[in-house]
Amino acid sequence: MSTFQHIKGTFDILPDAYTIGDTRIAASHEWHHVETVLREVMTRHNLEEIRTPMLEPTELVARGVGEHTDIVSKEMFAFERRGTRYVLRPEITAPVTRAFLEHHLEQRGGVQKLFYIGPCFRAEQPQKGRYRQFHQFGVEIIGASDPRTDAETIATMIAVYQAFGLTGARLRINTLGEPEHRAAFRDALVDYLTPYRDELSETSQRRLDTNPLRILDTKVEHERALLRDAPTLLDHVDAEALAHYDAVKQLLSSLGIAFEEDPMLVRGLDYYSHTAFELEHDALGAQSALAGGGRYDGLAPALGHDGPLPACGFAAGMERLFLALDAIDYDYPAPETPRVFFAALGKEAEAWVFKTVHDLRAQGIHAAHDLKGRSLKAQMREANRQDAPYTVIIGGNELADGSAQVKTMATGEQTAVSFEDLADYLSTPPAA
Ligand code: AMP
Repeated sequence: MSTFQHIKGTFDILPDAYTIGDTRIAASHEWHHVETVLREVMTRHNLEEIRTPMLEPTELVARGVGEHTDIVSKEMFAFERRGTRYVLRPEITAPVTRAFLEHHLEQRGGVQKLFYIGPCFRAEQPQKGRYRQFHQFGVEIIGASDPRTDAETIATMIAVYQAFGLTGARLRINTLGEPEHRAAFRDALVDYLTPYRDELSETSQRRLDTNPLRILDTKVEHERALLRDAPTLLDHVDAEALAHYDAVKQLLSSLGIAFEEDPMLVRGLDYYSHTAFELEHDALGAQSALAGGGRYDGLAPALGHDGPLPACGFAAGMERLFLALDAIDYDYPAPETPRVFFAALGKEAEAWVFKTVHDLRAQGIHAAHDLKGRSLKAQMREANRQDAPYTVIIGGNELADGSAQVKTMATGEQTAVSFEDLADYLSTPPAA
């Protein structure tokens, strides 16, 4: 054991799955599988991958996510170095928008349909499904205000979970209208709640002054009761926003995507307008959100872009996806094993095996051997652990003959194969 341990709220991804508390941390090959399926779903939805740095200017996140959000006010891993302020990105929408504007991606023509997968950092209180370093995948469709964009974003998100056979996720949607509708609603909400100020929790009292819409997220029962008679956002949006919302709902229905309308859904981030949505799954427990997103036409102007830039996206948690897959006992494909394991008897055989294993690898064959110089018995134990379908034992006789006995582990059958023919013989797995 070393003196050091992983930082609380982070975790290592190891070759084998393991548990922290009662949470299963998937094995690296399982992560790889999930990422492969994600990329496949994204690609068939005609999205292209974008990768942005983990480090961004703090100001980008402050402006892009909003000063009064929890993320910016208390959850950023931010630091200053020689006069420059850096943040470990807490989300990837603002970075993608920065990259879009910086590299003038609109010049590629058409609508930019982008996806990402990567780590994010938030100084939250770690708990099941909530980490300080976690991973998000998501989609950003930039350059289109058509309601089909919103529906396509949601359909892509749903397709991801369908690709894993996950059912039972609940989609909630709402419209936030334009910023001025939200401002009018905010005022109406503050007017409604102010007489009850003393009954509100400390958090909600603070939010009443800084970010009143966040009060709608409250889990406090008497506050929820109070909110039942509060004005709703839907009462404050105009006919155009309602038409956009109706179109999105119709498009979702045309794809057979079920949704619940939730007038209390506002999302924590400031830059949203029109469509907002969240996908939840009961199997996740307290952290029930699989993914969320919406339209964020206001983000680019907030980052200094001249004029609006219509855009819509979603962000989803990888760890939450793994939790949901655990709940359905998802059947991950087995990891790739070596095609062949070579055991060596004696120094001369070891040298031959070393060279042969590397020659085979150069020819594209996944080949394994032992690096410890152990007994034949220990080498065979290792061959078993690595689960190679073929094993070969090389000793003085084989070297003298120029031929090896290749053992098919499933049947115990042995075949004499000359050294020249080994690569050819090993290039196919044993017949099932
Ligand atoms: P947000 O950017 O807050 O809308 O988060 C998008 C998604 O990321 C959520 O629906 C979660 O699935 C996931 N997520 C957010 N914060 C965390 C966290 N601290 N740990 C793990 N997953 C998270």
